[in-house]
Amino acid sequence: MTLFAAQICQFRPEIVAIAQAEKLPALKEAIAELDPQPILLAGAEGVETVAAYGDASVVVTGIVGCAGLLPTIAAIKAGKDLALANKETLIAAGCVVNPLLKHHRVRILPADSEHSAIFQCLQGVPPGGLRKIILTASGGAFRDRPVEELAQVTIADALKHPNWSMGRKITIDSATLMNKGLEVIEAHFLFGLDYDQIQIVIHPQSIIHSLVEVQDTSVLAQMGWPDMRLPLLYALSYPDRLPTPWKSLDLVQCATLTFREPDHRKYPCMQLAYAAGRAGGTMPAVLNAANEVAVDLFLTERIPFLGIPEVIERTCERHRVIDQPSLEDILEADRWARHTAHTVLTPLSSVF
Ligand code: MG
Repeated sequence: MTLFAAQICQFRPEIVAIAQAEKLPALKEAIAELDPQPILLAGAEGVETVAAYGDASVVVTGIVGCAGLLPTIAAIKAGKDLALANKETLIAAGCVVNPLLKHHRVRILPADSEHSAIFQCLQGVPPGGLRKIILTASGGAFRDRPVEELAQVTIADALKHPNWSMGRKITIDSATLMNKGLEVIEAHFLFGLDYDQIQIVIHPQSIIHSLVEVQDTSVLAQMGWPDMRLPLLYALSYPDRLPTPWKSLDLVQCATLTFREPDHRKYPCMQLAYAAGRAGGTMPAVLNAANEVAVDLFLTERIPFLGIPEVIERTCERHRVIDQPSLEDILEADRWARHTAHTVLTPLSSVF
């Protein structure tokens, strides 16, 4: 709350919404001195109002999880381009969001580092020129641990990301590699390739942020230090290239770039994501919701680390896919999956 109030005082926005409505009085109090006062809204509706507000031409959607879906749709309906940092929106509802983008003639500028890399590599590649996407993955907190040790790892272990500084949810998603699995689905909806044409490669140095192969087998990569400011800047400045004072990439300092195949035994979440993507319809929404619940259960010490893929797999197994779902079908699948993911827990917790 203190940080939020400080940001409001620094940037002086016209309008502000806070999702947790119960925190509105404290926020009001914290910015009481500010003059002029911003319009203050609360709750999910408030967030949607802000997403569609005024004459902003681009809306950055950075809400974590499926909570970003309805605000994103509100921004699209208001005709605003999106700088998408909230991958869950496209994963859960790509089949609804993509037609909406067309209808309202708005575009998505990816702010996820891998998808920004792919988008940057595609500048100048003609329609039909793309053959394959190679998503790079750091391997997360446990890339150098043997699979046998994963049953014992703690929350603190899982939160130690080797290269990127990020929020708790995405750091756990990196440790399970579900983050990369979700990004495969995101890439499918953003760039229109089949799942067979999207590959994951472990690249521990996180210098190459992803690659594309074009029809003549030429491979294009985007490189840079691991720094989220760059994909965000490009999403906001596209198609321009703004000068920055940031440190240049130094290949000699990088010295060695290595690659290896991800271990499916160690990272079962990857396969679960591919399977959900291929099942299509409401299944990616179910995968995403089950993952959100599973990560929360892990972070609150109610399941062990290896319980995360189990919760997701059991939830997905119980779901009956609706093909070509409406937005309401997706929201219902999301609710169903959140409820179900909590109920598949009992047999797990009795084991531990
Ligand atoms: Mg990413």
